[in-house]
This record gives sequence, structure tokens and C-alpha cells, in this order.
Amino acid sequence: SLAVADPLVVEGVTVRFGALAALADVSLRAEPGTVHAVIGPNGAGKSTLFNVISGVYRATSGRVLLGGTVLTGQRPHRVTALGVGRAFQNLAGSPYESVLDNIMIGRHHLMRTGFLSAGLRIPSARHEERLHRARAREIAEFLDLGERLHVPIGILPYGDRKRVEVARALATEPRVLLLDEPVAGMNAVETAQMTATIRAIRASLGITVLLVEHDMTMVMSLADRVTVLDFGRVVSDGTPAEVSRDPAVIRAYLGT
Ligand code: ADP
Ligand code: MG
Repeated sequence: SLAVADPLVVEGVTVRFGALAALADVSLRAEPGTVHAVIGPNGAGKSTLFNVISGVYRATSGRVLLGGTVLTGQRPHRVTALGVGRAFQNLAGSPYESVLDNIMIGRHHLMRTGFLSAGLRIPSARHEERLHRARAREIAEFLDLGERLHVPIGILPYGDRKRVEVARALATEPRVLLLDEPVAGMNAVETAQMTATIRAIRASLGITVLLVEHDMTMVMSLADRVTVLDFGRVVSDGTPAEVSRDPAVIRAYLGT
């Protein structure tokens, strides 16, 4: 089984769509208990990288590993079960279902008996479901959603809804959490709150956070390490201070 201290390693990953290499020989290493940001201009390959890690896209070549376990070639639900949770860039989830039920979706793969037998009121299944609901409630409280457990997510303010998506990803009990633009569209107050939440995840849960984000102020204040992509290639990798004074990064953003 996997140790908590396993890094997420991307080894020479290439993803081709016809003639286009959306990723070309990309390598990075995200250490446990850190926030590792992936930045780059639009079309650089950031979402493609997340799709490869989570098993949605197939790598043309190269591998993704969590500790000694190869993730490439596994189906998305297996990758989730192996410890990679993902919060999506766009609003996800069922708008008419409550906050709690949406968070519970993240726990499906952990439930041995499943929702059907729970619905049929088989005692052991009812017990198991209660334990999962208690954990889902705990995660909701961690994300300041404790007062909104029974509200349908469709009527929540945008920032709350994005936090439900992070809560659902956390409910999978990940070792690695992929966050695709978690503060996109948020106001300053919501952004500060999400930044504090990500710091708390890193500090108290020891999870590896892989973060794609356009808000550079947020990235530079939060990330331990930054990988910069441009046209599918790694053009820089280092601490926020190192990459922000790297001429290759400035070139990538100026498009020259
Ligand atoms: P980013 O998230 O950095 O903005 P993407 O990973 O979404 O960039 O896209 C990288 C490149 O790959 C873009 O040129 C995009 O059009 C292309 N691409 C992404 N997904 C697909 C796909 N499923 N089929 C064809 N091209 C794709
Ligand atoms: Mg994207």
C-alpha cells in the first residue's frame, strides 16, 4: 500500500491530439505536504496535465506515479481510489442536491455496500452510511459549509459552490488534491478564504496540492514550488522567487 509520504511524479509525459502535442516530454515532482503550482498561458497544457494525471486522457508516452504505483493507464475511478482527488475548474455537482449529498458523492468509492442497500435500509449498510455522513459533515465544517449542509447547491453563492467542489474532492480522502483554478471568478474575500483553506489542507492534512491558477498573486504567496508550461513544454521550474525572475517565464507570458 501507499505511504502518505509518496511524491507525485510525472515522468516525460507527452500527449498528442493529432499533430498537436498538448504536452511534450513534461516532467515534475510534487512533494507531499506542499502546494505545487502549475502555471502558464492559455493553451499551455495545464488542464491536459490534470486530465492525464486523473486518467481522463491517455499519455502518448511517459508515466505518472504516486510512490511506486503507476497511475497512467488506470481508469479515472481507479486513480481516485489510489489517492488522487480532483476539483473541477467549472461548477460541478447536482444543483438540486444538498451540500451534504454532493460531498457524499466523493465517498461512493469508499462505501462497500453502496447507496442502493443503504436505501433499502439494510442495518449494516445504514450504519456504514452514517459513518460516511459524519465524515462528510466534518469536511463541510472544515470548508465553512457547516451551516449550509441541507441547502441545494444550485442556490449557493458562487464562492460557496466552488468550496463544495473542493469538499467533494477532499471527501475522496486523497493523498494528492488537484485544484483547477479554485479562485477563478471569486471576489477578493472569497479568494482570501480559499487561500486560507488550501494552507490549512497543506498544514493539517499533509496532502500534496497540485494547483492550476491564473491569479499570480495567489500562486506566488501560496506555492512552495512552481512549474511553468508553455506550448506543452516545461519552460521553468523552481520556487516562486526563482520562476518569477526567470527570463523564460517572462517570454512565455509576453508571447515573444
Ligand atoms: P490550458 O489548460 O493550459 O489552457 P489545455 O490543456 O486545455 O490548456 O490545452 C492545451 C492544448 O491542447 C490546446 O491547444 C487545446 O486546444 C488542446 N486540447 C486540449 N484538449 C484537447 C482535446 N481533447 N482534443 C484536441 N485538442 C485538445
Ligand atoms: Mg485549462
